[in-house]
Amino acid sequence: MMNAILSRSKEETILMLLGGLSIVSILPFGIIRLMQGNWALAIIDLAIVIGILGIMIFVWITRKVRVASILVTIFYSVGMLAAIHIKGQALVYWVYPTMIAAFFMLHAKEALCINTVSVSALVFILMNKIPALDLSSVVITLVLINLFSYIFSTRTSLQHSELNHQAEIDFLTGAGNRRAFDQKMTELLKPNDTPPDICLLIFDLDHFKRVNDQFGHVAGDGVLVQFCELLRSRIRAVDCLYRYGGEEFVFFAMGANLAAASHLAEELRALIANKLRASDSTITVSIGVAKQHLGESAKTWFERADAALYEAKQSGRNAVRAAP
Ligand code: GH3
Ligand code: MG
Ligand code: MG
Repeated sequence: MMNAILSRSKEETILMLLGGLSIVSILPFGIIRLMQGNWALAIIDLAIVIGILGIMIFVWITRKVRVASILVTIFYSVGMLAAIHIKGQALVYWVYPTMIAAFFMLHAKEALCINTVSVSALVFILMNKIPALDLSSVVITLVLINLFSYIFSTRTSLQHSELNHQAEIDFLTGAGNRRAFDQKMTELLKPNDTPPDICLLIFDLDHFKRVNDQFGHVAGDGVLVQFCELLRSRIRAVDCLYRYGGEEFVFFAMGANLAAASHLAEELRALIANKLRASDSTITVSIGVAKQHLGESAKTWFERADAALYEAKQSGRNAVRAAP
């Protein structure tokens, strides 16, 4: 059971928790009202509980969180409005947590849309039931919590995506880092109906230790930055370039067979040999290329490209070799 829960995504877990909490908070009211013979409200409470339960089961089976989140929010917004319509002002306090919960479940804009419709409906329902001054207090406080929740939600998701981005970028060269590379590799190896041709290119700068020894580490860093800029000037899919570590980089040539990828590697090798410099010294690169074999693991694919790179180094460097 615990494993089944842990295997769920963050969104699924939040939805389940909110759903569970809503049921726990609404069900007792439904039962009390049922016992008091307050049929209309009891039916609304129990309908909300059954509806949320249904949606939780739907999510558990289908894992379609997005649709379910929108449904849950609309569902208990309507339920809440219906309850206020029957019982009046006394239930208005329930609107506040419901509106905040919408920002936890949905994108900020979706939550704002649903809540705006709910506030308008609420004004319509309460218009002739409570004094205008009380109604305006309700509306103003609701507008404020929506405004704050909206700002908080958009800022949080912005920070979240910035952090995600930073966690996957090599800060020196701007290429993807090792973590991003591992993720991309896993993504590419997912079983697919028709796997596209993908080749892995491993770049290793030649005698880079000497560059550092001769010109210093700062100049060495500059060479790494320049190396990536040169690659980016030639390859379109810049999001496929990663720094594997030190002076080693990898690139996924998507939709390229071994011949096309080797041709590209040869072009890149020549570009680097012609353009990459530390002071006046030429810097070269060796490249190993391997095409992904059907059903092959990340490890063996990488090892084949690495063996090809080793051959390129053995051949005297500034060379491209492809794995058979
Ligand atoms: P080979 O042609 O066989 O690849 O020789 P090499 O000197 O390039 O290979 P080796 O693996 O011996 O040395 C790699 C060097 O790269 C050692 C390390 O100081 C340097 N290096 C690794 N990361 C960085 C970095 O971020 N900045 C700088 N300036 N140097 C780095
Ligand atoms: Mg190396
Ligand atoms: Mg090297």
